[in-house]
Amino acid sequence: MKFPINSGCKECTAILRELREAAEVEGKALRSSGRDLAELRQEWIKTDEEGARALFALHYPRSLSARRRKTEHEVLTGHNVLTHGIRAAFGRR
Ligand SMILES: [Zn+2]
Repeated sequence: MKFPINSGCKECTAILRELREAAEVEGKALRSSGRDLAELRQEWIKTDEEGARALFALHYPRSLSARRRKTEHEVLTGHNVLTHGIRAAFGRR
């Protein structure tokens, strides 16, 4: 599928920024929380799918909502947030 030339999308850019900020903020929060990341990873690996989802929602609520927003936008518009967002971020028209 070929994208139209002027495919930069503000919403895609916003979602991309939200994803990046969420990952940064929540990664920092987790590191400064004093939790043992290796232990957390083990917990993550051992748990089932539902448990993993609960763990993710507990530690990465912002990332989770950004991902939901991304999926919703992609379904509604047929955009690819990565492609459209990056294009818009670099001001390509
Ligand atoms: Zn878009």
